[in-house]
Amino acid sequence: MNIHELKASVITNNVANKSIDKKTTNPINTIAEQKEVVNDKGAQALKNYFLGTQNIPSFKGFDCATSEFNHNMMLVPCACCGKKMINGGENVEKLATELTKLKGEDRTKFIDETLEIYRPVQKAIIRGMREVGEKYPKKTTTELLPIMANDVQGIMKRGQLAVLDDVDKEAKEHYGEENKVSDYIKSQRKYVNGLEKNSKFNREKFVKDMDRITSELGDEHAKGHVLNIAIDMPFEDDYYNKMTKKIREPRKFINGLFSNAVKTAEHIHPRSLGGPNSTENYMSECNECNEKRQNYDLNTYWQTRYPSMPYNVQQFCDAVTENVINDKIGPHFVDYPKDLKVAVESETKGSITLKVLNPEEINKKREEKGLKPLPQPTKENVDRARAIANRRKPEPQGPVIKPHAPVKPQPVKTETEKAA
Ligand SMILES: [Zn+2]
Repeated sequence: MNIHELKASVITNNVANKSIDKKTTNPINTIAEQKEVVNDKGAQALKNYFLGTQNIPSFKGFDCATSEFNHNMMLVPCACCGKKMINGGENVEKLATELTKLKGEDRTKFIDETLEIYRPVQKAIIRGMREVGEKYPKKTTTELLPIMANDVQGIMKRGQLAVLDDVDKEAKEHYGEENKVSDYIKSQRKYVNGLEKNSKFNREKFVKDMDRITSELGDEHAKGHVLNIAIDMPFEDDYYNKMTKKIREPRKFINGLFSNAVKTAEHIHPRSLGGPNSTENYMSECNECNEKRQNYDLNTYWQTRYPSMPYNVQQFCDAVTENVINDKIGPHFVDYPKDLKVAVESETKGSITLKVLNPEEINKKREEKGLKPLPQPTKENVDRARAIANRRKPEPQGPVIKPHAPVKPQPVKTETEKAA
């Protein structure tokens, strides 16, 4: 299977949607007030919502429509890391089954064609696998793993250098041959070349530096592009954990290369903190971003891990809007972009802002294409549209993926807090 075939495949993942029982969601007035990670505005708005004292423009709507998003939008970018997402565990199984058996040039081709779906650690590993695979073309992927396990540090180092090369190349395209990003990249190579764990070079510092330098350069579009490549820098702890522990279980290890790319329902205000399970509190994120966020404040989360998130939420929003305009997703999503804007700007206290089309503007675009205008969604026509969609597309059940956003009694410290 390659990425084009994947696009044709329609698989549902609504596991994330089911994983938190409503009974386990504590009342907002006890949980939200205890947790510093909740931002004041979001918590207060939601508290008022639950007490019924305030109507919020967002959070008015229908139940979270995870399966509708997943049926219709294969390979949309993750709203957080911007990487392409795949739909459902069945596709993970298919890809892993194929890669397990591949050898030689077929394996290299498979890796090249799927390169856009790997998350940072997995990308470093898959690049290592490509390289080792070319040295041992007769071995199956399963047989390659013990060889890779003997060169854990080397694969990491070369993975880091590959990201530096990619960033340098992208920066030159946007900012010209002589530019501050390329100067910085040059200054970092020596640290990577002398790599040991906990040495001078680490992902968190690198990503922060890249964020700062690209911000100084001022071009938002270029910044999004360059940062989206910089965030491919592998997370050191995750990498060593996977390569030293999990590589001994071949099938699990290979599945793990894909499972982080699965599309999940991210609740913008976390469900564990009382966020409602409705579409207006929902955006699509990959399994990795969703799981790592847990219930951290959204700002704390993306600024330390994925600083290109403001750019990526916009890309995600544009992709959904495009799908609404072209009838690739139900007509009741006509006001989703507008609601997404309210929810994201409220939760991030305005540090992420979105440019969106309102329903009238969406209808105008449709008119230009000769399509009928979409009505403002009401409960009745949402139910009707959904009933039709369900008749048309029965939902296949994928294997269980890791559960979404576990409810934790105490928030774990972020990397920044640990360092402080
Ligand atoms: Zn992501």
